[in-house]
Amino acid sequence: MSLLLLRTLPLTSLRGLRAFSAGNTKLFINGEFVESRTDKWINVHNPATNEVITRVPCATQDEMKAAVDSAQSSFASWSEQSVLSRQRVMFRLQELIRENQGKIAKLITEEQGKTIPDAEGDVLRGLQVVEHACSITSLQQGDTLPSLSKDMDCYTYRVPIGVCAGITPFNFPAMIPLWMFPVAIVCGNTYVLKPSERDPGASMFLAELARQAGVPAGVLNIIHGSVDAVNFICDEPRIRAISFVGSDTAGTHIYKRGSQNGKRVQANMGAKNHGVVMPDANKENSLNQLVGAAFGAAGQRCMALSVALFVGESKDWIPDLIERAKKLKINAGDQPGTDLGPVISPAAKQRIVNLVTSGEKEGAQVILDGRDVKVSGFEKGNFVGPTVVTGVKPNMTCYREEIFGPVLLTMNVDTLEEALEVINQNRYGNGTAIFTSNGATARKFQNEVDVGQVGVNVPIPVPLPMFSFTGSRGSFLGDSNFYGRKGIDFFTQTKTITSLWKEEDVTHQKPAVAMPT
Ligand code: NAD
Repeated sequence: MSLLLLRTLPLTSLRGLRAFSAGNTKLFINGEFVESRTDKWINVHNPATNEVITRVPCATQDEMKAAVDSAQSSFASWSEQSVLSRQRVMFRLQELIRENQGKIAKLITEEQGKTIPDAEGDVLRGLQVVEHACSITSLQQGDTLPSLSKDMDCYTYRVPIGVCAGITPFNFPAMIPLWMFPVAIVCGNTYVLKPSERDPGASMFLAELARQAGVPAGVLNIIHGSVDAVNFICDEPRIRAISFVGSDTAGTHIYKRGSQNGKRVQANMGAKNHGVVMPDANKENSLNQLVGAAFGAAGQRCMALSVALFVGESKDWIPDLIERAKKLKINAGDQPGTDLGPVISPAAKQRIVNLVTSGEKEGAQVILDGRDVKVSGFEKGNFVGPTVVTGVKPNMTCYREEIFGPVLLTMNVDTLEEALEVINQNRYGNGTAIFTSNGATARKFQNEVDVGQVGVNVPIPVPLPMFSFTGSRGSFLGDSNFYGRKGIDFFTQTKTITSLWKEEDVTHQKPAVAMPT
């Protein structure tokens, strides 16, 4: 079904948006949406109702090979297209994504559960990567140094690497695929995307927009599945680079297996992000920001603030924080006024509940308890209400594990130094934030904290795409980060040319066997 036809369907109808995922979700191979011949299917549920929306195929080996065949054979022509023509495709793609932002958001809410405004933000943050990719004519420039020696010049090209692949998580169904394939293809690579099997709809819609934008057949392909598809990507010799975002278990496996097979791998993984509240902070702003960053998207953001470190007297603000958290409205993501929707699955809900209960058993206090929340009209949904656990210690299971739900752990410390020690001893380094009105305190924090992305009075410091996403330590494996200049580095290799063009025709009398001095 073409986008033209999609546009003629009623905007409000989700069936209308589900051209590639009504019934069975299709594969996207060589520019066509095709039905899989597999006998293995995974159901996709609406997390607010647990009704089945679509089935995702576990693509067969032949189908996955066909996707790579297509990516491999389109590489020569795509990589030889002028950089200006690839840039024009990105201009069209960014325009189409902007026009369809609301439709993509609806698909996300239905499959992932987040609220419509939050889903629109998911699309927007991916769109910004596409907008940045439009600067490829500057970003892909190499270096030059003329007259390196007599009549000798040296220059570099940043050339594409070939077929690249991406494996994405469930929590940002538009943003994270858009961190990957637009940057890869604008550099001249071709792509095989394996979206999360839990919410593939946004990726399928984006594939149609890419086709409409002029991405040639074979340049972008989509396969589906879970572990077998991931292992196929890690092992397939023609795939040169893998981008992964998701859990530690999958990320470490993919990093090891992909690297052992000689591939370039970038892997963004789990997190435990601490927000430090100094007693001199603006109380209103800090508490509102903490609550938004802990409970927004039901805590299913890798940059959610999941631990609040109250320094000194700021611990007296905890009752006010609870009051704010209590006011948040829990409901299905498509209902107006909802602040937080359901978590992705009954298993995710059970895991969150178990971790909160473990904290209680290990001596912490659950002072706001969302474990038994009921949402009228959506009794079968996977809802967890805002939950606040105080008196948390670093050795507790709820602190050591990533909870990935609407749960805020709080700890009280006496000094900034103590707060820094807690954060720097945590295995993760994805993000952190400090709330303070003192510049020197902020400066000390940003310099001494061992975390890759730091917010100063900014709760979720996700860098915009002119920078890169620089999570560190246990939150990242690889050398080049996602998007920005580092993203271009990941998707290109440097070719260095040294050339000698003498004005006079000098003929050497004998071979030079020693290094030139
Ligand atoms: P996940 O690891 O379960 O799934 C991610 C992808 O890996 C999926 O495509 C899935 O099919 C595949 N996969 C899952 N288990 C696998 C296994 N055992 N072997 C091989 N492949 C496997 O992650 P998720 O639950 O979809 O996403 C949540 C996680 O992602 C959280 O840990 C969150 O912190 C992390 N995340 C990190 C970032 C970041 O930038 N650091 C961003 C978003 C999400």
